[in-house]
Amino acid sequence: MKIHEYQAKELFRDFGIPTPKDMVATSPEEAVRAVEELGLPVVLKAQVHVGGRGKAGGVKVVRVMEEVERTAGAILALTIKGLPVEKLLVTSAVDIRSEVYLSLLIDRGASKIAFIGCAEGGVEIEQTAKESPEKILRFEVPASSLGRLRANECLPFAQKLFPSQEHAAKAAGIMVAMGEMFQRRDCSLIEINPLVVDGDGAVIALDAKVIFDDNALFRQPDNLSFREESDEAKNGGVSFVQLDGQIGCMVNGAGLAMATMDIIKHFGGSPANFLDAGGSSDPNKVVTGFKMILQDKNVKVIFLNIFGGITRCDDIVKGILEAKEKFHVPVPIVIRLAGTNEEEGRALLAGTDLILAESLEQGARQVVEMGERA
Ligand code: GDP
Ligand code: MN
Repeated sequence: MKIHEYQAKELFRDFGIPTPKDMVATSPEEAVRAVEELGLPVVLKAQVHVGGRGKAGGVKVVRVMEEVERTAGAILALTIKGLPVEKLLVTSAVDIRSEVYLSLLIDRGASKIAFIGCAEGGVEIEQTAKESPEKILRFEVPASSLGRLRANECLPFAQKLFPSQEHAAKAAGIMVAMGEMFQRRDCSLIEINPLVVDGDGAVIALDAKVIFDDNALFRQPDNLSFREESDEAKNGGVSFVQLDGQIGCMVNGAGLAMATMDIIKHFGGSPANFLDAGGSSDPNKVVTGFKMILQDKNVKVIFLNIFGGITRCDDIVKGILEAKEKFHVPVPIVIRLAGTNEEEGRALLAGTDLILAESLEQGARQVVEMGERA
């Protein structure tokens, strides 16, 4: 379960990780009031569950009062990677002297919990990881001692990130706090990018990304209290994540949706989105799904991957045909049907322009080809 930066920073404060002063605003007027309280300069930050907000225009430094309202309005009007901005974090701007990347995560490949650090923090960390993997540093910590790390254990790692002894010591303290928070709140990720040194030599978390382990939510009622009305609920029961490929995907079930993305990648294609339409054959949901997929002009073909369980394939096909009547879909649709009432579903497809895939594998190959050709 992902939480917003403003929520993650509340937790940081509880655990003693320094952050700039901040307030949340949902309108330009509220942003102005927050700035009156915090003082200038400030940074206005879109609160959406994706990274790279800075590059998308969702993070702006504002130095004069006259610009607050307009800038806040502009950010609140943005949609970043498919997610509308509904909240702003107004934070006191920090005078950045250096930026470092620091995270604590479960490394599933290595079955370890590890700090990951890079002395060159900021927005280009993925780029650095690709081009100069040797700059990405690791420090594994045993799960058993995660909640009670000692600063002197963390110091050697912190020293690799911060040349100054004073800053490294502060960062080691932050690592101890991260370990405690990770353990106490059942996190799977705590990421600070950037962790900065300011003009007074303070070490401050300027950004905060926290993911809670879903498997532990049952014993973490406080974690659940961070949950907001989900994007899924807002989208009429359809959960959607924008990606940057050409193949639109509409699937019933989150696990199958992920498997569909995997098989498209396996055959060399690139999914345009993740979309879980749930178990229903409700034509309205299908229309909503089509609309969300087709907002993206990169989409060349749509792959509908349906596995009938409790919901029946023929019901779903009826929903799709009804939706197609209501809503024009300008790209080809390849459909794979399996499970309950598969035959009845296939029969309904006869005479329509939907392309029936013989198997998941064949369908995936076909959409990858069509995505490339178009
Ligand atoms: P992200 O793009 O979603 O990772 O958002 P961040 O919170 O990391 O902000 C992006 C970038 O904006 C940071 O790497 C900083 O360079 C810049 N930034 C954020 N807050 C401040 C601030 O208080 N002062 C200054 N000067 N720059 C900031
Ligand atoms: Mn960041």
